[in-house]
Amino acid sequence: MNNLPMSNFTVLLVEDEDAIREMLVVILKQAGLQVLAVASAEQGQIALADNLPDLILLDWMLPGISGVEWARRLKKDQAYKTLPIILLTARGEEEDKVSGLDCGADDYITKPFSPKELIARIKAVLRRSGKSTDSAMIVAGDLVLDTEQHRLSIADKQLEVSPTEFRLMQFFMTHPDKVYSRTQLLDQIWGRSVYIEERTVDVHIRRLRKILTEHQRENLVQTVRGFGYRFSLTQ
Ligand code: CA
Repeated sequence: MNNLPMSNFTVLLVEDEDAIREMLVVILKQAGLQVLAVASAEQGQIALADNLPDLILLDWMLPGISGVEWARRLKKDQAYKTLPIILLTARGEEEDKVSGLDCGADDYITKPFSPKELIARIKAVLRRSGKSTDSAMIVAGDLVLDTEQHRLSIADKQLEVSPTEFRLMQFFMTHPDKVYSRTQLLDQIWGRSVYIEERTVDVHIRRLRKILTEHQRENLVQTVRGFGYRFSLTQ
């Protein structure tokens, strides 16, 4: 796969609060990204004319044209509509998240967030838009699965999962919102060559749920009565 270094990617950061903008510049540069930082959508529009970035990290609340409004305009513009946008929102604006995605943004991230979560989201959006950096990180909401280091975390908290449960989560996170029978999961996770009883799947699902419950995320792995299991970020 194309494993381009992060330095091949440029992020246009639009954030009006100086302290936050400066902090984000440091985080993005530490991750190896090239950064163009401006304080308004109007300045962002001018920056776009000179340099086409690979992604825009856009604050929701900006003086003048708001982040949401600019995102909406860009997504209607032939020249920029494929340019990935991640919106930065503040707590309390959660109810507006749906309209955030309605405006065409590719993802949103709520302040305060950890640098790790931000970079994981950026990588995921770059990957989804075909610009892919490394394929090691799988992100679903605030779940991050690192396939190289075999680590799974929720909101930056490390989960203690067995290798089987890790593979189960990897499969689920890359196949969200689809229902799989026990037989299908056995084939996918354990392989056809191994004979294992179907209830083994239930045992591992139960353990996984126990771990997820400790992080108030028991609803991520759902039972579909009479058929099997589904991973979903929505209930
Ligand atoms: Ca702001």
